[in-house]
Amino acid sequence: MYWNEEIETIDRSNLKKLQLKRLQGTVRILYEKVPFYQNKFKELGITPEDIKSLDDVRKLPFTTREDLRDNYPYGLLAVSRDKIVRLHTSSGTTGKPKAIFFSKNDINQSAELIARCLIMTGVTKDDVLQNMMTYGLFTGALVMHYGAEKVGILVIPAGPGNTERQIALMQDFGSTCLHLTPSYALYLSEVMESKGIKPKRDLSLKRAYLGAEPYSEETRKKLESMFEIDIYNSYGLSEMNGPGVAFECICKNGMHIWEDNFLVEILDPSSDEPVKEGQEGELVLTTLCREGMPLLRYRTKDITKVISGDCPCGRTHRRISRILGRVDDMFIVRGVNIFPQQIERVLMSIKGVAQNYQILLESYDKLSVKVEIEQDFFDGSIEHLLNLKTKITEKLKSEILVTPKVELVEPGTLPISEGKLNRVIDKRTL
Ligand code: ADP
Ligand code: ZN
Repeated sequence: MYWNEEIETIDRSNLKKLQLKRLQGTVRILYEKVPFYQNKFKELGITPEDIKSLDDVRKLPFTTREDLRDNYPYGLLAVSRDKIVRLHTSSGTTGKPKAIFFSKNDINQSAELIARCLIMTGVTKDDVLQNMMTYGLFTGALVMHYGAEKVGILVIPAGPGNTERQIALMQDFGSTCLHLTPSYALYLSEVMESKGIKPKRDLSLKRAYLGAEPYSEETRKKLESMFEIDIYNSYGLSEMNGPGVAFECICKNGMHIWEDNFLVEILDPSSDEPVKEGQEGELVLTTLCREGMPLLRYRTKDITKVISGDCPCGRTHRRISRILGRVDDMFIVRGVNIFPQQIERVLMSIKGVAQNYQILLESYDKLSVKVEIEQDFFDGSIEHLLNLKTKITEKLKSEILVTPKVELVEPGTLPISEGKLNRVIDKRTL
């Protein structure tokens, strides 16, 4: 099933023609309307006429999150203020937020992309989506909400938190789909378990969309078996209008990225040169349909790779892998580069490990990991507990090449979050 078969299965040579036409249009508008880009074009000595092929995208300037902050609040608008109907901001962790503006067409377009995504996972009008992302300045909940309404399904704007009420809503209204962060999903499953709720027996859930934070394949598998549903990966960022940028289809093997809306580059972050197809690099995106605030070559800092080959679902838009890390997430201990996802992947594959963990960086040669483990292990013998601790330490060491100090803690003792959860506490920079 497709939402928009013509565009979703478009022949790749036609897709490229469409991309070029849209890229040229976007560049022309920015050249005429946005002083920030006018200055950049002048510095680089280029004009819209220089964009003759898709490869010419490499002549264009990058846009970074700092550029968004420097031009806060209205500096990057490409249309007059009266054409803008919505503001979102992206949290970021330091300094000013990034302001993202939507025109009416941008709202429609982002809903269109979500509609494609939902239909791609088998949703029909009979579905009920419980949207547990944060409503408000974040894009996550509202963009999904509008897309789901476009499809015509019932949306429950639950927002995050208040877990007992979430469960009651699922029971009372027969929610079939959930939209939430992986860390909240882990917490929710823990609460359901403690209340003796068996999803298949007591609820109508079929699938969940997890995004906004990185998580591993092991976490997906763990959650799929706990909730007894299909879990689909959903990727987006406020700078690209929020969720709906890339999404998994029913094949669950990488996320189709909507290339009629986004021009995709995967670059080696150290050289800014394109990597070979299939190799890992930083995802850099250029908006092709955005009206209010088009962005050229936005550096997402997210690391991914293109999954080569055709997808059995028939969609021709390429797939990207699960986000493998963020350029700025990486930390170095004893000279070894480590991504938090490597630690998560190992932990979630070990039987006895519960839902949550925390990474503590105390010095440049010491890494500690606090791991919640299942209650049974605490109630059982000390020998079992020590064996588990050794197993976790050894498996982590073989993945990250550094021996971590592992501390086992009872389930429910580590912090959780309604929004994005930061599991790395870096005491070296505090
Ligand atoms: P910020 O966190 O900067 O305020 P957003 O809320 O827009 O901005 O978050 C976007 C970021 O969230 C992405 O750049 C990416 O790092 C992360 N993200 C979103 N979806 C996923 C996903 N499915 N897997 C991994 N990371 C994701
Ligand atoms: Zn597919």
